[in-house]
Amino acid sequence: MGRLIVVANQKGGVGKTTTAVNLAIGLGQRESKVLLVDLDPQGNASSGIIADTRLAELKSSGKTIYEALVGRIPIGDAIRSARERVFLAPSGPDLVGAEIELATRKGRDQVLKQILAPVRDDYDFVIVDTPPSLGLLTLNALVAADSVIVPMQCEYYALEGLSALLETIKRIRASLNSKLQIDGLVLTMFDARNRLSHEIAREVEKHFPEKVFQSVIPRNVRLSESPSHGLSVLEYDPKSAGAEAYRNLAAELLARLDGS
Ligand code: ATP
Ligand code: MG
Repeated sequence: MGRLIVVANQKGGVGKTTTAVNLAIGLGQRESKVLLVDLDPQGNASSGIIADTRLAELKSSGKTIYEALVGRIPIGDAIRSARERVFLAPSGPDLVGAEIELATRKGRDQVLKQILAPVRDDYDFVIVDTPPSLGLLTLNALVAADSVIVPMQCEYYALEGLSALLETIKRIRASLNSKLQIDGLVLTMFDARNRLSHEIAREVEKHFPEKVFQSVIPRNVRLSESPSHGLSVLEYDPKSAGAEAYRNLAAELLARLDGS
């Protein structure tokens, strides 16, 4: 059965989307069939994997994750091929209103789980990119998920807010999704020359021994350039330090899952 992994951290700009996109492509390059679900109204995962020319048509098509969430279309109609083994359910312009629209529904936190059920097993991995909040969209993702990956930016206050996310995960485990696991924490934007980066890395490892991925993502300009080309860094500059780090992360994740 396909594993549904949610990339979440309610702090903004910590590398969620960068991790979701590069992990999706990284797993695809290792022969996995992957569905990337862009559950963020900002739509950065969609624009980070599909070039501008095709993206506009796709977003205005009326066939996005939004229409699937509100029950207007089956999820299959929203899924497009992005690469040979990587598929995308894009964010759409109306997704920003979805939290309000879903709020009054019965079973409002189970909607994503239900709509994904018929297609989930068509993939080895479903990777969900979430917005920087613990709102209804992120909640839907966590209820549907097998596991969570939490990117942590190596900056001051990296741990701030993490307790809210962990508390949410604990609550969901106790009620709506008892099988929810934490695959691990990924240190992002690590700068080896910056003492603070090392301090944060040590701090995170101290708090979460065995949960921190060995593959640390360095601060790397190629990672910030690649989305504007609609490419992962693995395609944009496969020899870059950023590409190497995300290839390692994909391999480490596969190894962890093999061992578990
Ligand atoms: P949001 O909360 O807004 O969804 P996010 O957590 O998804 O943000 P990203 O969009 O992945 O964060 O990253 C924030 C910015 O930092 C982006 O411009 C991205 O290109 C850049 N970035 C992410 N990771 C790195 C890195 N390792 N090195 C350099 N730039 C990076
Ligand atoms: Mg994002």
